[in-house]
Order: sequence, then C-alpha cells, then structure tokens
Amino acid sequence: MKGKLARVTGSTSGTGLEFAAALAAEGANVLLEGAGDEAAVEEPRAGLARAHGVTVGHHGAELGKPTELEAFMLHAQSLHGVDILVDNAGIEHVATLEEFPVVKWDAVLAVDLSSSLYTMRLALRTMKQRGWRRIINIASAHGLVVGANKTAYVAAKHWLLGLTEVAGLETARTGVTVSAICPWWVLTPLVQQRIEARAASNGKTVEQAKQELPAEKQPSLEFVTPEQLGALAVFQCSDATQQVRGAAYSVDRGRVAQ
Ligand code: NAD
Repeated sequence: MKGKLARVTGSTSGTGLEFAAALAAEGANVLLEGAGDEAAVEEPRAGLARAHGVTVGHHGAELGKPTELEAFMLHAQSLHGVDILVDNAGIEHVATLEEFPVVKWDAVLAVDLSSSLYTMRLALRTMKQRGWRRIINIASAHGLVVGANKTAYVAAKHWLLGLTEVAGLETARTGVTVSAICPWWVLTPLVQQRIEARAASNGKTVEQAKQELPAEKQPSLEFVTPEQLGALAVFQCSDATQQVRGAAYSVDRGRVAQ
C-alpha cells in the first residue's frame, strides 16, 4: 500500500484510529478525520507518522454538515485522490421510540448514514476511473439485527448495508470494491465509558460490568479488539477480496448467528 492514500473518518479515537494505524503499518499515507482539539489529535497523528514513516494529515470536518464534508473531500483529492476510504465515524442515541428526540434522529442519520453517501458520491467520481480502490463502510451487528431503544442507530446501520450493496453493484465492473464490516462490542473508549456508567448505576465494579456486557448477547464472551478490525481492513485491501462486492463481514463473536 506504499504511496496510497487512506482516508479514515472518525479516526481521532477508537476503531478509526486503529484502522488508520493498520493501514499506515502497511505503508499507506493516512488522512485522519474527526472532532477533537488540534493538540489532542497531534499526538496520535505524529505518532503514526513516526512509527510507520508515512505522511499523516488531519482534517476536522464536521460530518453532519455536507458542506464541510465536501471541503474535506476536496482537500483529500488535492493531496492525491483517495485510494482507500474507511467510513468509520458513527454516533448513537439510546431512547424509546416514542421518546426519541427528532433532533437526535437527524444527527445520527446525518453522521452514520448520509455522510457515507455524500462521501462515496464524491469519491467514486474519480475512484472508478483509476483502477484498484477500496471503500470499507463500518456498520454494526445492528445493521443485521435490531435492538430496542436504538431506533436511529439500527435504521442507519441497516440502510448503510443497503447503500454498500448498491455501491458494490454499481462498481462491480471497476477496480473499486465496496464492502462493510459489522462489529459488535469492540472495547473502545466509547464502550469503556458505557461500562463505567453501567457499573455505577448497577452498583457493580467496572470489572463485573465488563464481564456482563458481552455475556448478554455475544456467545464467545469476549470483546472484539480494534486490532482485529484493523487487520480485517488490511485483508479487505488485498487482492484476495477483489470479487467481494457489496458484502458485509460480521465480526461479532456469534451475535448474529445467535
Ligand atoms: P468512537 O466514539 O470512539 O469514535 C467515533 C469517531 O467518530 C470519533 O473519532 C469522532 O470524532 C467521530 N465523529 C463522531 N461524530 C462526528 C461528526 N459529527 N463529525 C465528524 N466526526 C465525528 O466510536 P467507536 O466505538 O470507535 O465506533 C466507530 C464505528 O464503529 C462507528 O461507526 C460505530 O457505530 C461502529 N461500531 C462500534 C462498535 C463498538 O462496540 N465500539 C460496535 C459496532 C459498531
């Protein structure tokens, strides 16, 4: 992947940062994206560049705003054009259907679904003409199975898989492949916060809450690690996956099979 440019959305923390690290380790230059003050982002940005001898940039686009997203894509195109696009940014909101705030519905759909369409739309214009390229959309087990109180997240991730299939078909005769990853309970800072909140509200230790969480709906009783997802993205960039088009990889410790 030497000399290729990987653009990873939502890569200032969590799995996004690990996708960026895994691709940088293979020689790709990386454009990080995501919220966070410049000083906080500078440490992982410089760390990746130093560790792997690649160029690592950062853009703080607000993905809920199409104009900012477009500016970000123009910035990526001006650097080289995007070779690998990992659409990873995502948010969620938990509330019952009847109490789900409209403003949260709009925000979740904007970041988890619409930003992927707007980004792919812009990226594909040049990608389709340039041979080998990869688009990897990060969905969730909730793209395949539902959960109560997660209306917007479940809807967005289901639609994201539909969008991935359509894009996979429309690029089927090009060098661009479009696929998705459906994780379930990856131990990222976001999930760690949930565990701590759960421990506090249930009067449990953090360790107890950590064991209970995957036990609920994850037969293997273990968390997925960000490193496993990073390695899968590297595999998705290999020639072995050239005919994987519009498909989703479940990395969910048995959640969907259950
Ligand atoms: P995280 O909160 O650690 O990271 C989310 C990233 O998205 C951050 O870098 C943040 O800056 C960025 N982001 C959020 N809103 C944004 C906005 N409006 N504009 C720009 N950037 C924005 O989350 P994570 O756990 O690493 O999740 C990453 C992806 O993996 C998400 O799409 C999530 O739905 C999916 N996922 C995670 C899990 C899990 O267990 N962690 C499970 C299934 C799916």
